[in-house]
Amino acid sequence: MTNTYDVIIVGLGGMGSCAAYQVARRGKRVLGLERHTPAHALGSSHGKSRIIRQAYFEDPAYVPLLLRAYELWEQIERETNQSIMMLTGGLMMGRPDAQTVAGALRSAREYNLPYEMLDAAAIHTRFPAFQPDPATVALYEKKAGYVRPEVSVQAHLTRAAALGADLHFEEPIQSWSASPTGDRVQVTTANGVYEAEKLIIAPGAWAPQLLADLSLPLVVERNILFWFDPLDGTAPFLADRFPIYIWEINADLQIYGFPAEAGSTDGVKIALFRNGNISTPETIDRTVHPDEVQQMRDAFKDHIPALNGPLLNALTCMYTTTPDQHFIIDLHPNYPQVVIASPCSGHGFKFASVVGEILADLALDGSTRHPISLFALDRFVATH
Ligand SMILES: Cc1cc2nc3c(=O)[nH]c(=O)nc-3n(C[C@H](O)[C@H](O)[C@H](O)COP(=O)(O)OP(=O)(O)OC[C@H]3O[C@@H](n4cnc5c(N)ncnc54)[C@H](O)[C@@H]3O)c2cc1C
Repeated sequence: MTNTYDVIIVGLGGMGSCAAYQVARRGKRVLGLERHTPAHALGSSHGKSRIIRQAYFEDPAYVPLLLRAYELWEQIERETNQSIMMLTGGLMMGRPDAQTVAGALRSAREYNLPYEMLDAAAIHTRFPAFQPDPATVALYEKKAGYVRPEVSVQAHLTRAAALGADLHFEEPIQSWSASPTGDRVQVTTANGVYEAEKLIIAPGAWAPQLLADLSLPLVVERNILFWFDPLDGTAPFLADRFPIYIWEINADLQIYGFPAEAGSTDGVKIALFRNGNISTPETIDRTVHPDEVQQMRDAFKDHIPALNGPLLNALTCMYTTTPDQHFIIDLHPNYPQVVIASPCSGHGFKFASVVGEILADLALDGSTRHPISLFALDRFVATH
C-alpha cells in the first residue's frame, strides 16, 4: 500500500525538524522520516549549545537571514513555552585584521548592527577570565549568545506533530525517486513506500549517500566538543562575566566557547573551530583520545588559564562541509519537486529556524523571498 502526502521530509535533525514545523504550519500533509530517535546525538545537532550571532564574519550576506532566524527562534519559544535562545553577549576576538574581527565589523557596519570595539585591557576588565595579549581586540555584540540544539529539535517536532505531521523515527529511507514530470516523489523504507508531491532532503552528514546522484564535493568532518571544570569554580564563567566567544588566536587556530549555566554541573564548554579529520557517519571514531584533550588544553591554557581544570566530558559531532564553507540550499537540478537542505559547513544551527522557513517556501512555492543565492548548487554542479 502506498501512503500519499503533500511533502516528505528526510532527516528530522536541526534543519528537518524546523522544515516539518513550517510545512505543517501551512496546513500541508507532512511525513517526516528519521533514521534515529528524536534529538539524538549521532549527527550534527547535539551537545547542548550552538553559537548564534548577527555580526557575521563569514559574509554580510548572512545577516538578513539571521535577523529572520532570531524572530523565528522567539516564535517557537512562545509557541512551546521553552527557552531555546540565550542571549549572553558575544566576543569576536583576534588581531584587528583577523577575519573573525574584521569580517564581523564589516557585517555590523553594513547592516547597522549595534556593537562595541574593546581593546585587550577592556576585554580583561569586563570579562576577567580572558587573558588576551596586548595586540588582541574584540568586537562585542550584545545580541550574540547560543541556541540549544536538542531543545530546538524536540520543540519543532512536538509542534509539527501537534499541527498534524506524521513523524516516523528509526525508519531510515533506503532510496528515493522523483518523476521526470516534476510532480511526484517516492520514498522507500523497510516499512513501505511513501508518495508525495514534494521531497525535502535534510540528511546532514548522510548527504553524500542520499545525494550520490549529484557527486557533490562534500567532506564530513569529525569535530570534538569539550567540557572542563574550571580551577576556581564556575562563578567567573557565568554569562555576565563570560559571554560566548570566537577567538582567532592565529590564522590556523580558532577556539570558541560558551558560558557556564547557573546551577549546572556540566562545566564550561570549549572547542576548536574547523579542526576536524575526515570521517563518515558509519566510520566515525566516537572515542576522544588523550592527545586530543591535550591539543585542546594547549590551545586555550595561556588565554583562559582558569579553565584548565579536569575534563568533565567530550563528545564528537560531524560537520558536512562544502569547499567554500557556505551552505547548499536549493532545488535539485533535475527534479524541481526535490529540495536539498544544508550541508551546513559547521556553522548552520543558528540558521535552522529560518532554513525551515526557506525549505517550506522552496517545497511549496518553488521559490523564497529570502536571499539564498550564496547557497546555490550551481557552484558545484551543472544546472540547467
Ligand atoms: C562540533 C560542532 C559544533 C558546532 N557549532 C555550531 C555553532 O556554534 N553554531 C552554529 O550555528 N552551528 C554549529 N554547528 C553546525 C550545526 O550544528 C549544524 O549546521 C546543524 O546541526 C546541521 O543540522 P542538519 O539538520 O543538517 O543535520 P542533523 O541534525 O545531523 O540532521 C540530519 C538528520 O538526518 C537523519 N538521516 C540521515 N540519513 C537518513 C535517512 N536515510 N533516512 C532518514 N533520516 C536520515 C539523521 O539521522 C539526522 O537526524 C556545529 C556542529 C558541530 C558538529
